[in-house]
Amino acid sequence: MLKKLIPNMQIKSIYEIDFKHLKEQGILLIICDLDNTLVEWRSMDIPEKLSVWIKELKHLGFKVCIVSNNNIERVGKFAQGLDVLWFAKAGKPLTRTFHLAIKQAGVKPEQTVVIGDQIFTDILGGNCLGARTILVTPISKREFLGTRVMRKAEKLVIAYLRKKGKL
Ligand SMILES: [Mg+2]
Repeated sequence: MLKKLIPNMQIKSIYEIDFKHLKEQGILLIICDLDNTLVEWRSMDIPEKLSVWIKELKHLGFKVCIVSNNNIERVGKFAQGLDVLWFAKAGKPLTRTFHLAIKQAGVKPEQTVVIGDQIFTDILGGNCLGARTILVTPISKREFLGTRVMRKAEKLVIAYLRKKGKL
């Protein structure tokens, strides 16, 4: 179980990920969390930097999909603005929605990378799917109450993994 909480990579921000390297490793689909991974929780603005980033990923030949536990209205509006695949109310860490995403994209789990800011939803779910996982630092400290509670447990796990040299 603990193993499933360990991301393959930990990085500060989506903008620091080396996608050319991921491409060389056979990754075809990029699944991104939305809140505090792509933008601040609740933010509806699409930063220019993010639009450019998405365009570059598409240009490199990746399929991009937003998988969020947030509601249809929020996720839909945002994803349509970026013209990417999307799934809302995903129920992460359950893998059900991740499976729908890879099916729609026509790829295998091992050709997929899941990027997110939460160990107990994005990383656990991505690892259970059998995808590559990348943990990013949350963009903002503002978040959903339930998430704030989970962060406390997450801190303990991160401290433990660091101590063991696994992170
Ligand atoms: Mg998030």
